[in-house]
Amino acid sequence: MKAEQPAEGISKKAEYGDAFWYEVPCECGDPDHYHSIWIESDNDPKLITVYISTEATTDFWTQTVPDHIEKIDLPFVSWIWQTISYTINETVRRTRLITRILFRGYTKYESTVILTKQQAYNYSKALENAVKELERKHDVLHDKSIE
Ligand SMILES: [Zn+2]
Repeated sequence: MKAEQPAEGISKKAEYGDAFWYEVPCECGDPDHYHSIWIESDNDPKLITVYISTEATTDFWTQTVPDHIEKIDLPFVSWIWQTISYTINETVRRTRLITRILFRGYTKYESTVILTKQQAYNYSKALENAVKELERKHDVLHDKSIE
């Protein structure tokens, strides 16, 4: 399998003299799971920096109160229960996050991006090409070809 040109599942958002910006969406379709990739070259010291950022959410799977109760048969009552339990659970999750940040100065998140095989190849190739291109630009700027 080879990386494609143009690449499926990866898009170039912008290109600057010393940086490339790509975006990689998650296969599940959730817009919060994307990777935003910023590849930048620094001239002194000669360094290529790759920033990968993604959205992090609350740990939505933890439940302080159950979000569903089997015994509730009436759809309206069930809806009211789900609304109340969602509000309680989300408030607890957010409060926990805020408290951790407040007292520890950081918190841990988990984020997953699901890629197709092709997308993974394209992802790695985009990184490789961006680094090569930035190095080429750097060399042109510093006339490395003449030395
Ligand atoms: Zn996803």
